[in-house]
Amino acid sequence: MIDLHSHSNASDGSDDPAALVQRAAAVGIRTLALTDHDTQSGVETALAEASRSGIELIPGTELSLAWEGGAMHLVVLFLVPGRGPLQDRLAEIRTARHARNHEILEVLESLGLPVGADEVAAMAGGESVGRPHIAAAMVRRGYVESIAEAFDLYLGWGRPAYRPRWRLTPEEGIGLSLASGGVPVLAHPHTLGLNNSEEVSTTLRRLKAAGLRAMECYCPLYSPIEREGYAALAARFGLLASGGSDYHGSFKPGIELGVGRGNLSVPERLLDALRP
Ligand code: AMP
Ligand code: ZN
Ligand code: FE
Ligand code: FE
Repeated sequence: MIDLHSHSNASDGSDDPAALVQRAAAVGIRTLALTDHDTQSGVETALAEASRSGIELIPGTELSLAWEGGAMHLVVLFLVPGRGPLQDRLAEIRTARHARNHEILEVLESLGLPVGADEVAAMAGGESVGRPHIAAAMVRRGYVESIAEAFDLYLGWGRPAYRPRWRLTPEEGIGLSLASGGVPVLAHPHTLGLNNSEEVSTTLRRLKAAGLRAMECYCPLYSPIEREGYAALAARFGLLASGGSDYHGSFKPGIELGVGRGNLSVPERLLDALRP
């Protein structure tokens, strides 16, 4: 079993990097990618635990790119931590996150739902703090029943406490990934909000021209037939297929490492083609 998309508490997952790797090994995963949002601070610990557990850990990250009408996320696989064109930009991106989080807390205060920055930080294990941590602090305060409800009522796109943050363009994100030796993969493509085959075609052509290598086809939300449909689509545009659970632990209940909602199976043969 392989899983090429997961989060630790270095960003908005609940498991610390060592526990995440132990869990992966326990369920029989032989290759796990750690793709925390805008940070690689969990990678060192995860690599050490992976060598103890006898599994392969692929270092990576996940970027949110500038896109209207939906969310465009880029999973970058095989990104080695340290200095590099993309690695150096991650700190800047996290600074923009902090500014945006502060704006969200101001809006929540004005809505009569005060949440302290310290309460949000207490929900996060690392340096990449985001809306899921704000949502968790809102649950703790009793303002909402669940993280999902916090997004539905307040934090999601178009809701009153939604605030945008500065993002790289698709071309910048893909270009920086390649310049850093990483493998750029379009994550969970349904969140782009593409409405028809013409929009799909224009967008995939644009991303391919920018250097995109692969597209996630094996995601928990898709049916087995949809996964094969996405794989055919990827092939049509000259992209490789990838996939993973996008595991976040308790921040996304019901999604397990490797198997997603239970029926996910990411073909192991995809892995060698994706290697840089
Ligand atoms: P941020 O990176 O701070 O903008 O937060 C975005 C992250 O929040 C995503 O990567 C997801 O992990 C999570 N998220 C987005 N929408 C929802 C939702 N409706 N319910 C729960 N988590 C969500
Ligand atoms: Zn996340
Ligand atoms: Fe994502
Ligand atoms: Fe993710």
